[in-house]
Amino acid sequence: MKSYFTHLECSACGQACDPRRVQTTCPDCGQPLLARYDLATLRRSFSPERWEERPATMWRYRELLPVFDERNIVSLGETITPLLPLPRLGEALGLTDLWLKDETRLPTGTFKARGLAMAVSKCVELGIKRVAIPSAGNAAEALSAYAARAGLECFVFLPEDAPLANRRVCQAAGARVFRVKGLIGDAGRLVQQGREEHGWFDVSTFKEPYRLEGKKTMGLELAEQFRWELPDAIVYPTGGGTGLVGFWKAFEELGALGWLRSEKRPQMIAVQAEGCAPIVRAFHEGRDEAEPWEGARTIAGGLRVPKPFADRLILRVLRESGGTAVAVSDREILESMKQLARAEGLLASPEGAATVAVVRKLVREGFLQRDERVVLLNSGTLLKHVDLIEGPEPPVLDAAARRSRDHEDQG
Ligand SMILES: *Cc1c(COP(=O)(O)O)cnc(C)c1O
Ligand SMILES: [Zn+2]
Repeated sequence: MKSYFTHLECSACGQACDPRRVQTTCPDCGQPLLARYDLATLRRSFSPERWEERPATMWRYRELLPVFDERNIVSLGETITPLLPLPRLGEALGLTDLWLKDETRLPTGTFKARGLAMAVSKCVELGIKRVAIPSAGNAAEALSAYAARAGLECFVFLPEDAPLANRRVCQAAGARVFRVKGLIGDAGRLVQQGREEHGWFDVSTFKEPYRLEGKKTMGLELAEQFRWELPDAIVYPTGGGTGLVGFWKAFEELGALGWLRSEKRPQMIAVQAEGCAPIVRAFHEGRDEAEPWEGARTIAGGLRVPKPFADRLILRVLRESGGTAVAVSDREILESMKQLARAEGLLASPEGAATVAVVRKLVREGFLQRDERVVLLNSGTLLKHVDLIEGPEPPVLDAAARRSRDHEDQG
């Protein structure tokens, strides 16, 4: 088994960069770098059926992943995640072929595990010893866990109001945790400022080239799970956009390899929150770049990214795929969390649940047709957010009191 990774290439100016050295963004223009593979050779020497015979983890796609030496892989068991049909929810929403890719089964309970497993593996391969990240919470958790596994020093910077579960898990995994006044962008500036002084490597979304390759495995898995025939639409909760761009990169690579059964590509649908929707706004205004969103506010922390660094890549994918971008309110998100749990028994984070609310809108508007194959991406678990589910406390029963009452009744 070997990797066909050849080099990094700037997504904007095409500049090639040496993959044997530590890289961040393009040295010429500062835009994100993309991993490139020798697809021509791979196409001649391999077939995707061989992937299916390997253990069911994201590492089965070794040929299309950037780790050169297998011994550098840092793993906590990144299982292939279930692709589940949603018949009851589909019926309620007016769709006959609705699916959910459930990323809650990954280490630390979100799909951030994919990206950070890859980034930390590459840190090991490149000899990096100290890592730092600005994060809404889940990326920090995943980095803390993988850094612990690899024996790296880890520094995480969270918005002041990041969920308790995120803060405590990072601490439990031995990371140095800091809370920052403001949002993820403010945390990002602190990481950048401290880079030289503290000698840490910045694992921010798209400022490090390999998290994207980890997220790309979602697209490889989905294609394999649907027998190399892609669905009509993928509904994706979009913060930094790693997954959306990663899905598309997977489809481009599989297409170039000639391993997809048809030319059809899914419409990529970006889901955002009404309180922070820079991509939705830029998409509908026909722009190539997003303006920073002022006063970002939503219960979906992973979507609270006022200015995604990869905005151009995200918008390009939405347009190339014939997709769209839709924002929903926090109230709709909360209702959807409960609806998904009640209809199907599935536990979605606010970000994952937002996809349900968006589908409801797009069916009503006629953008999605009744018999189209639509996949929702559940990015994280409800278990970190149980405080959001309101309701009366369940009644307390007293078995002892009940027994004595029964006694009296008999007597
Ligand atoms: C980070 C995160 C997102 C956004 O993911 P991107 O790929 O960066 O757009 C969505 N949902 C959850 C639960 C997240 O943690
Ligand atoms: Zn460039």
